[in-house]
Amino acid sequence: MLKVLKFGGSSMADASQYAKVKSIVEADPDRRVVVVSAAGKRYSGDHKLTDLLYLCHAHLQYGVSCDSIFQMIFDRYAAIRDTLQLKTDIEGEMKRLREQMDKGISQDELVSRGEYFSAMLMADYLGYDFVDASRWLQFNFDGSVNQKASYAALQQLMSPRGIVIPGFYGIMPDGKIKTFSRGGSDITGALAAAALDADVYENWTDVSGILMADPRIVENPRPIERVTYNELRELSYLGAQVLHELTIFPVREKNIPLNIRNTNCPEHPGTLILGSFDDNDDPAQEDFITGIAGRKDYSVITIAKHGMSSEVGAWRKILEVFEKHNLNVEYAPSGIDNISMVVTTASLTPCLYSILAELEKVMKPDTLKVIDNIAIVAAVGRKMAFRTGVSGKIFAKLGENGINVRTITQGPEELNIIVGVDNKDFSNAIRVLYNSFV
Ligand code: ADP
Ligand code: ASP
Ligand code: MG
Repeated sequence: MLKVLKFGGSSMADASQYAKVKSIVEADPDRRVVVVSAAGKRYSGDHKLTDLLYLCHAHLQYGVSCDSIFQMIFDRYAAIRDTLQLKTDIEGEMKRLREQMDKGISQDELVSRGEYFSAMLMADYLGYDFVDASRWLQFNFDGSVNQKASYAALQQLMSPRGIVIPGFYGIMPDGKIKTFSRGGSDITGALAAAALDADVYENWTDVSGILMADPRIVENPRPIERVTYNELRELSYLGAQVLHELTIFPVREKNIPLNIRNTNCPEHPGTLILGSFDDNDDPAQEDFITGIAGRKDYSVITIAKHGMSSEVGAWRKILEVFEKHNLNVEYAPSGIDNISMVVTTASLTPCLYSILAELEKVMKPDTLKVIDNIAIVAAVGRKMAFRTGVSGKIFAKLGENGINVRTITQGPEELNIIVGVDNKDFSNAIRVLYNSFV
């Protein structure tokens, strides 16, 4: 058995969190691969190490001294080392980094050092080997991961003692360090688990699993016990930001179970994520919603034209206009002679008039309308599939509570029901769904 564990920023925040990590790792001899984030916040109002590193880079760029920020970074890591009585040469490492900074360092390389220092310290503490991400995690020039080469390299580097890997970054074909987008250590963990054909990928964070709704909107939401990769993809795409949205792809390819756990409450089983479940043995069989997620600030462009449904190629022409403007269409609810394109307002704003002008030109529509301030709310659940009456219940509850549904989308897999509501109804719609069906 092999378990790959990833510890997020809050689990790496200070020496007492390191001690929790150590006791979790040592509780199970199969836990032999540990991926770590940079030190996160110790309390609200504290700084994440990665944010401090971004700040250092901005100072360098504008020729302003970053000495005091650099000192804060050194102090955080030196305190962990000293409290745990480790030997890691933080002074030497920081001195080398400072020299590099004076010569000119890329933003990606500088911000990756938070994970690098965390991994060195954790390897020292656990007595595991330190394996730098730049030795195995290889990107292609287009920014995608070269999985074949990366997996082969990590297999070579695996040691029977166990290894600690820094998350968040890898190396480009030209030898330069490149990071994922923020929160990317989750992806490193998933890639390591896939590379080594792990039996499970445990992602250790500061909540006891994925909650059924955003805790800032619903008070004390229940953690989800079991969720499929597909459901999670829907939820994380729409804002349930516990995991980086790209985390599931490597583990799904190899059908490796993903288990979200709480470093501060290790006895809690957390959330288990798998390809499918036998729901017959599920005591909560009757609950058809797995989770609720959503995002605000979408715009809906509606193109209506008499006879459009019989016009071959009409949708292609419309979609080409969006493609030309590099605009991602999130949903496209349609009627007989109209179709609506749901896009984020942020991506639409810079090219709004250019898109409208082109749609006028290629479609000659009867009407062309744009509505802003739309929020998308999705009820996601594998148990909704082929069950009659679910959408009726959802719409009835929203209606009873005075929430006007502006758009409706449901895929044929019946994994979700997605509604567009006014931004002002966003939180209420999520609360109504939660309180009515959970
Ligand atoms: P880490 O540093 O371990 O990667 P993150 O801060 O990236 O942790 O993710 C965990 C946080 O995600 C939680 O502390 C919580 O505030 C937030 N969060 C947002 N939506 C949800 C949700 N649906 N379920 C659980 N946590 C959520
Ligand atoms: N430290 C990086 C960030 O804050 C990566 C991570 O924590 O996953 O985005
Ligand atoms: Mg995270």
